[in-house]
Amino acid sequence: MARSLPLKADPAAQLALLDLQAIDARVDVLRHQRRSLPELAEIAALQESRAGFDAQRRDAQIMVDDLTAEQAKVDADVEQVKVRRTRDRDRMDQGLISNPKDLERMQGELESLERRITSLEDEELEVMARLEDAQKDLDSYLAQVAAADERLAALTETRDEKLGALDAELASLDAERRPAAEGLPADLLALYDKLRESKGGVGAALLRARECSGCRLTLDAHEIGEIRAMPDDTVYRCEECQRILVRTAESGL
Ligand SMILES: [Zn+2]
Repeated sequence: MARSLPLKADPAAQLALLDLQAIDARVDVLRHQRRSLPELAEIAALQESRAGFDAQRRDAQIMVDDLTAEQAKVDADVEQVKVRRTRDRDRMDQGLISNPKDLERMQGELESLERRITSLEDEELEVMARLEDAQKDLDSYLAQVAAADERLAALTETRDEKLGALDAELASLDAERRPAAEGLPADLLALYDKLRESKGGVGAALLRARECSGCRLTLDAHEIGEIRAMPDDTVYRCEECQRILVRTAESGL
């Protein structure tokens, strides 16, 4: 353990470690904020519901297309039967059919054409009503997709603004960190980094009023005596949390 072979570092370097720790803690907070922006979760949820609306929109579009084709076909069928009816009527009106048997057959055909027209026109109305419903569904899904897109655009803009602000702050902290880390002994920095990794981001803590500000435990008289007796350049580690404990005038020694 480090305790059996205490690290040595100039007291000024130990103090500077606290400055570095303050910068790193701020960086950790900003990085956490960056990862957990509320907009990120909202965008992900919205993208999912938008995909759902869009799938329904596609289905509704297929339905509208099919019914539009069906309507065109029924319209054409009605037209075709009406043309036949007109032709038959004209032939009768012009007296082209004189044979009573033919005349009777022609009248029968005209009646059947009328029935066919009536049935096709009923079908036409039914297709029209279904098309109207399908179009309403399509319009509603289109509106939902458009509303989702609008909200997504607004959220993306807010997210990017927030990310931009956080990144600017991170860049300025990075610029602050380099000179703060410069000149610190490599072994002290290595220990600090290792502790930061395993101790929730806090590797160095101030000893304030006999309390470790890393784990909030008050040192007992024995530990205080130990610290008082050790040279200033000995790096002291909290017995409880193992963090580097930095002594200052506030330490209560
Ligand atoms: Zn501690």
